Amino acid sequence: MSLAGKTAIITGSNSGIGLGVAHELARAGANIVLNSFTDRAEDHALAEKLGREHGVTARYIAADMSKGDDCRALVEKAGGCDILVNNAGIQHVAPIESFPVDKWNAIIAINLTSAFHTTAAALPGMRKAGWGRIVNIASAHGLRASPFKSAYVAAKHGIVGLTKTAALETAGQGITVNAICPGYVLTPLVEAQIPDQMKAHNMDRETVIREVMLDRQPSRQFATVEQIGGTTVYLCSAAADQVTGTTISVDGGWTAM
Ligand code: NAD
Repeated sequence: MSLAGKTAIITGSNSGIGLGVAHELARAGANIVLNSFTDRAEDHALAEKLGREHGVTARYIAADMSKGDDCRALVEKAGGCDILVNNAGIQHVAPIESFPVDKWNAIIAINLTSAFHTTAAALPGMRKAGWGRIVNIASAHGLRASPFKSAYVAAKHGIVGLTKTAALETAGQGITVNAICPGYVLTPLVEAQIPDQMKAHNMDRETVIREVMLDRQPSRQFATVEQIGGTTVYLCSAAADQVTGTTISVDGGWTAM
């Protein structure tokens, strides 16, 4: 399949799943807009390299997904988009009573509210074009809970709700809105939570990986960024024209339990 001529914005894409999704969309021919909140030479170099590798146009646009105006400006600076992947996300692990309020607010802003703003900014152009794809990178935690992740679980359940609502508001207009729910993918975000999980569960690194993380994932294997990217490409394909308002789990069986 070819996404040649389509422009894809992927929020939070200078690392991890977002960068993996960008590579797979570029491999399918889409022009790419990478994003994060930093504005370093290496961010722009990353986009140049990706563009060269896949023979597409790739740009990096800095925008802080914790700020509504930045979210909307990202879409505007990109000149609109055909494909919007809401991927930016952060995590913090702590019991509810001691969960820092600033972390709660940041997680809700970046993992949930940013998608409201980018979706609102992208929809008019998609409606005009009569074609659009919105893919929200939710999580198994959009469908299931875990202790010590109150803000993350709330935000991810929220983005599943936003996905369904946006799908209903765009049904029959050539636009689809879906959420991918990955289980554990070994990215910097997951690496960063291992020490907190070790503390919360009083376990060493290997035990946390085996018994806390992959214990929920019956395959006992991490999902890969390429698999999340491939699922995104599928959702952008004609085969998925009637797939809207739903979740696709890529979680090694986690949510089958
Ligand atoms: P990551 O830390 O590698 O990537 C997160 C990206 O978001 C980075 O590019 C970072 O720069 C960006 N980001 C953070 N704050 C931002 C801000 N304020 N503005 C703009 N960009 C910002 O993590 P990841 O694992 O690749 O996570 C990507 C998404 O996938 C997240 O939404 C996460 O919740 C989701 N997810 C990850 C896993 C996993 O196991 N890794 C599982 C399920 C869902």
